[in-house]
Parts: sequence; structure tokens; C-alpha cells
Amino acid sequence: MEKYDCIIIGGGIAGITAAIYLKNASKKVLLIEKGAMGGILNKISKIENYPGFTTITGPDLASNLYEQAKSNQIDILLDTVINISQSENENIVSLKSGDLKCKYLILATGKEARKLGLPNEEELIGHGVSYCALCDGFFFKGKDVSVIGAGDSAIHEALYLANICKSVTILNKYPYFKTNENLVLELEKKDNIKILYESMTTALNASDNKLTSITYKKGEEEHELKTDCVFVYIGSTPNIFASLDFELDGNYLKVDDKKRTNLKTIYAVGDVIKKDLYQLVGAADDGMIAAVDIIKNLNKE
Ligand SMILES: Cc1cc2nc3c(=O)[nH]c(=O)nc-3n(C[C@H](O)[C@H](O)[C@H](O)COP(=O)(O)OP(=O)(O)OC[C@H]3O[C@@H](n4cnc5c(N)ncnc54)[C@H](O)[C@@H]3O)c2cc1C
Repeated sequence: MEKYDCIIIGGGIAGITAAIYLKNASKKVLLIEKGAMGGILNKISKIENYPGFTTITGPDLASNLYEQAKSNQIDILLDTVINISQSENENIVSLKSGDLKCKYLILATGKEARKLGLPNEEELIGHGVSYCALCDGFFFKGKDVSVIGAGDSAIHEALYLANICKSVTILNKYPYFKTNENLVLELEKKDNIKILYESMTTALNASDNKLTSITYKKGEEEHELKTDCVFVYIGSTPNIFASLDFELDGNYLKVDDKKRTNLKTIYAVGDVIKKDLYQLVGAADDGMIAAVDIIKNLNKE
């Protein structure tokens, strides 16, 4: 069986950056991605804080990264890793089609949108429940939609939807937003955005498996809000592998300053690790740090 110097799981910005550094150092590297290259970038409408671009859409940046990976001749495998394990001298990455072996493993698996946990939520995905304004907003052009959340993502995506939809109602369970004042001021400038503070969504109401309204609680009172789609931005859960005994901080992988997990030869980078800020430049930086440390170790062999 072919043995790689390093396998990277996850083709977002963190994984692609690590792959570029490893490949440029002539290491035998494989990048495995289960969905679209660029990862979460494919779901971000507008980025205005990534160096080198005054403004760029997420899919455009994803496509640039993919092109860069291809031009660096990085081996990319589009498949889902179902398990990882370790034997004495190697890491084993399991796919449905079989196992792959590597000396070093980088987990760049990101995080998934957190669900509301309401009874019929799963059935209504694609029928009035969405976690991606960029992917689904267009289908609700001229319609009344709602956004649930209190952070940066909820605000950014509400602003994006306000340019497409007739109205956007934000349901924020707190009496404030967990973001900077300027963003909130931007929200308040939009005529078609309404904010409901201290409002907790309690039910998704549907007819013929299509969302028609949501029920929310403000204080002790319940209210109904008619809406064509609800976009949920209430945080995320990191994609970790429970098969190995990783040290965690909350749900996130704990790493040291070289992005090493507690398990020898396994590194983790990007949104899957515990850190203060989850941003693109930070994810790219993580990928670089892990790759450089792995390159140093491989060069010592
Ligand atoms: C709505 C939104 C807006 C944002 N806006 C900004 C912004 O304006 N500026 C900014 O700096 N940051 C922004 N961010 C944050 C930034 O996008 C992330 O921090 C960064 O993209 C994370 O990159 P990543 O490579 O760690 O993860 P991801 O991009 O999530 O990549 C992880 C990849 O791993 C793959 N994967 C997972 N499990 C497996 C498996 N088992 N097998 C194979 N592949 C697997 C996934 O399919 C995914 O493609 C935003 C985030 C969101 C959600």
C-alpha cells in the first residue's frame, strides 16, 4: 500500500494552505475532500477582510484556491473519510473503498452549522429551512424570510438576504447582538430588516411539508411569524473523529503552538480547533504552521 508523508482531511482554506506548503517542499501529500473544494467558503456571500481582495465572494475565493492547488499539482481525492486510526508507526485513514496510510495526518475538517433541534427541522431542510443564504436566498427573491441568530454570520447573511428578499426578520434570543456596533448600525439602516430581540424560536409550522410560519416566545407570550424560509445561524459543531482519544476543549480539538494534537503525528488546523477567532487568515495561518512543522520533522528522518 502506498504511504504518504502527509494526508490532509478537508479541502477548505486551512487544508489547501497546508497542502501547498507540503507540496512546495516536495513532500508526498494527499488532500481528501468530501464536498466542494474551498469548504465553507462556498457558502459565504461576501468577504471584505481577506488581504489582497477589497471584496470577493466566497465561491470565487474557493475557486481561486482550487486553481492554485491544481496548478501546484497537489493530489486531491474527492471522498469521505469515515474513520481514522493509528498503529505504531503510521496513521490509517479509512474510506469506503479502503485504507490509506501516512506518516503525518492533518485534520482540517472544519465545523458544521448547528441545528435548532426542533422536531420537524430535518424534514423541512430545502422546504423552508436553510443554513446557507448564499445557496438558497435566490429561491426566496421578493419573499418574506427570517434569520435566527445573534452573531456576525446572522447579521452578514441577513444583510445579504435584504438585497434579494421583500423582508427579513431577525429573531435574536438575546437583548443584544454578539458583534460590533457598526454591523448592527448597518442592519438598522435597512428599511426591510426587522429585529425581534429576546425572541426564542419554539416551533416550525408547516403545511404539505413546506414551512409556512414559525412560533417564537418573547417573555411568556407566544407569537406566530409568517415566513417563507428561515435561515439558521446559531453557531457550529466541529467535525471531529470520535474513534481516537483526542484532547478537547469544549467540542473542539485542542492543539499546541505547532498545531499538534495530543496524538503523536496528528495535527489539526482551522475551524475544527479551539481558538478565539475563526477567520480565513487564521485558518490559512494554522495550515502553514502545521505544514512547516511536519516538513521539519520529515527532513530530519
Ligand atoms: C457565514 C459565514 C461567513 C464568514 N465570513 C467570513 C469573513 O468574511 N471573513 C473571514 O475571515 N472569515 C469568515 N468566516 C469564517 C471562515 O470562513 C472560516 O474560519 C474558514 O473558512 C474555515 O476554514 P477551514 O478550512 O478550517 O474549514 P472549512 O472551510 O469548513 O473546510 C473543512 C472541509 O473539510 C471537509 N470535511 C469534513 N469532514 C470530512 C471528512 N470526513 N472527509 C473528507 N472531508 C471532510 C468539509 O467538507 C469541508 O470542505 C465566515 C464563516 C461563515 C460560516
